[in-house]
Amino acid sequence: MPGCALTARRVYRRPVRRHKRRRRGLRPGPALPWGPVPDTADRIAELERYHREEVAVCTRCALSETRTQVVVGSGDPDADVMFVGEAPGYHEDVQGIPFVGASGKLLTTLLEGIGLTRDDVFVANVLKCRPPGNRDPAPAEIRTCEPHLFRQVALVRPRLVCTLGNFATKLLSGRPDGISRVHGHELPIELGGRPVLLYPLFHPAAALYTRAMLATLEADFARIPELLAATPPDATAGAAGPRPQATAPPAAAPPPPAVTPAPADEQLGLF
Ligand code: SF4
Repeated sequence: MPGCALTARRVYRRPVRRHKRRRRGLRPGPALPWGPVPDTADRIAELERYHREEVAVCTRCALSETRTQVVVGSGDPDADVMFVGEAPGYHEDVQGIPFVGASGKLLTTLLEGIGLTRDDVFVANVLKCRPPGNRDPAPAEIRTCEPHLFRQVALVRPRLVCTLGNFATKLLSGRPDGISRVHGHELPIELGGRPVLLYPLFHPAAALYTRAMLATLEADFARIPELLAATPPDATAGAAGPRPQATAPPAAAPPPPAVTPAPADEQLGLF
């Protein structure tokens, strides 16, 4: 069965406002283990089937032995914007929903600041099962679980993929650059055979540590409507119905959330 090519441009594109763009050639990425993606509303049904029959019962790695449940993902299956975090934490493992702890509340607040809700976007993680003690994902675990994420991206068909933290950014960019260096710099890539705009952001859990990092995350978030407006809808998106449109930031953004110490069970290794 032929696989789709995952390719990524090799250089991050500076924000448009900086009038500095560099482009280099595409490089081939790993072959992806699935066939063609449906071009119709069937992809939404296929996403639900895939979640139910392939992800929720997955035992491909040892994390299946320690998890409470698989945290598949949540949100609009036809979203224009997708957020990809690292792995479920304690609260996510208990509730089966990504980003429901302290970092999840911050993510919700940041979305509201640009006129979006959790229902407007799709949220998932690189790993679908919680590593014990919230340790960093192991490379072998990422390799084993990444087909689930790639399949989700191929079926949701987002125009903008926001990676939250180091692990998601390195996986989807195909580059070793840390999030501290590349945050806020969009990167055109091809994912699942489709062009998407990758937009690395600090993980919300990291922003819970310092106000400076929170301010940086808010500034990077504020560019999401601009980036989405500059990324036209895919003409080959199929007959899945009209896509939700991102709204402009409200005239008066809500006040920033209070910075509180990150709970001990929040994800680490985020810088
Ligand atoms: S982490 Fe991923 S690969 Fe491992 S058991 Fe969970 S869903 Fe399967």
